[in-house]
This record gives sequence, structure tokens and C-alpha cells, in this order.
Amino acid sequence: MEVVAGIDLGGTAINYTLITREEKFLIEGLCEHPALSKQGPEVCLQQIEDGLKIAADLAKIPLTDIVAIGLDTPGPASAAGQLSAKGSTNFVHADWAGFDIREGLARKLGKPVSYLNDGNAGALWGHFTIFGANSKETSVSIVIGTGLGGGVIIDGNVVKGRKGFGGELGHVLIPYQSIPGIEGMKPNCNCGRLGDLESVCSLTAIEKTFLPYFLPKYPDHELGKVDRSKAAKMVRGMADRGDAMCREIFRVQAHGIGLFLDEMVNTFDPDVLIIGGGALEASEAFQKWFIDQVRVGMPTQREEQADIPIYVMPNGDTAGARGAAIEALKLARSSGLA
Ligand SMILES: [Zn+2]
Repeated sequence: MEVVAGIDLGGTAINYTLITREEKFLIEGLCEHPALSKQGPEVCLQQIEDGLKIAADLAKIPLTDIVAIGLDTPGPASAAGQLSAKGSTNFVHADWAGFDIREGLARKLGKPVSYLNDGNAGALWGHFTIFGANSKETSVSIVIGTGLGGGVIIDGNVVKGRKGFGGELGHVLIPYQSIPGIEGMKPNCNCGRLGDLESVCSLTAIEKTFLPYFLPKYPDHELGKVDRSKAAKMVRGMADRGDAMCREIFRVQAHGIGLFLDEMVNTFDPDVLIIGGGALEASEAFQKWFIDQVRVGMPTQREEQADIPIYVMPNGDTAGARGAAIEALKLARSSGLA
């Protein structure tokens, strides 16, 4: 049985999945192994290999059945998987600077390896859940977490870009000033931009911009007495339960997404739009309200495009590994291995 593996290398954990050539996942939920990235490439690649054996055992398949590997990591890295020479948050050890992690893993395992950054892997997973691995469709995905990641898939292929920054959707500027109810707000992003999508729509935005803006308007609000970073994490749950200020914060974020998705509709005329991440890990009723608000925030669409579907991305925790596996399945198919 030919199988490909998806390996999501995060800051602290490696998450594995396995998929057959018939596009069936052999591992339900998370199969995690400690990452040890801080100890440099040699230790980390060994960890990846050890964990892969554990994943294969869990799925009851021999390692030799695995014909290709899909790897995803946080960036910045080149489209081919060479980590930034300037280093990055998740790869602090000096030996990681400029390290070709895709090639290093291919050599270590003796199998072909494909590479995606984690945002693009998540986007490919979302795309797959709607269209499967052999798709010719176009989708734009955004994943709302601490920051805002995502990806653009055109005719079934991930747009990686010249330097690996394709799909860095969080840093696209949006005309946020047109959102009602935030007069005078100055949403600054960590990247230095004022008013990009991440600066309006992320957990960081709630902590840095929304709570300082809205709490003075709700002087008796209970979140005013809570540590700011802890309070930011409570906003989604309270919004889900109907708290007025927290709903208002999510309304503004949804309208920001609407402005951004309008830009995407006019740029790509995609088949679908997909929204995922922690912000939507809430009740179905809240998800529906949020998507409705996204549509309210979108400027009027052409009649032909007004019915564009907006989906909620499933399975947040496994999205990276599963997207990486789908990229590897495409590699295996194109090279005749599966
Ligand atoms: Zn930014």
C-alpha cells in the first residue's frame, strides 16, 4: 500500500499524519512528538525520523510503505524549504540559519520531500476538504490565530511566490477606515504596517488594539479587570455567549475580513473563500453569525459573483500536517510513486 506522510513541524511539537493514494487519512486526530527545534537541525531531524516510526506504528503500516513526505514549518523560508538566513522565531539555533530543511529531511529519510510554509499547508487542507487532491479549482483561505495566515490556491496549486512569501495575506492593507464604529482607531501590525488584515483581525489585534479602544466605552466591563493578554483570549468565548462588547469586536473583525475578501474576489474570482483558525472555534450559531457579518462587510459584489461560497475550515489542529500530506501526495503522483 503506497502511503504519504504529512509532517507539521511547529515550535514545540511535530504533528504527523498519513494518507493513502485513495486520499484516506490513516490517523484520526493528533499524533504528536516533541520537536526539539531549539537544539538545531541534527537533533530535530532525528526527532522527525523517530516520530515518523511512531506514526507508522500507530497506523499499523511498515515505514517502507511511505513513498513521499510532505513537510511544513513556520516561515520565513524559501518556496523550496530553505530557512531564512536571518533566523526565525521557531528556528533560533545558529545552525538553522539558511538551512535547507526540505533537502536535509529528504537526505535523512531517503525519500522525496515536498515543502510548504504552515499557512499555505493549512490553506491546502481547507481546499482539499472541499475539492479533493486532484482539483483544478481556485480558493483563498485565511486562518485567524495569534496572527493571520492563509494561502491562495490557483487551479489546485499553492501560490508559493518568488521568495516563499506567497499567501502572506495578513499583511495586505485593507481600507479599515470604512468600517463603522472604530473612528480614530489606529491598528498597527507587528510588521510595521498600519491597517493590514492582521492588524484588524487576529488575537494580537484584540490585545493590542481592540481592548484598549473598546474598554473605555464599556467602563464596567469585566474584562477591564483582567490582564490584557488573558482578556484577549476570553473575547471569543464571551462573544459566542452574546456579550455586547465582544460581539462588537468580532463584528469589526468580520467586516475587515469582508473588505479583504472583496479584494480577493476582484483579484482571483475564486471558486470559494475559506475561513479558519481559533477565532472560529466556537458554536455553529456563532460561526454562522460571523460569516453573515463577513458578507455584510463586503462591498456589493457583481451579480455573477455575489453567491461565492464562504466555508469554515475544519480540524484546526491537524490542518498543517494534513495540508503537507496532500502536497506530498501531489508530488508522489506527479513522479509516478502513487
Ligand atoms: Zn502586518
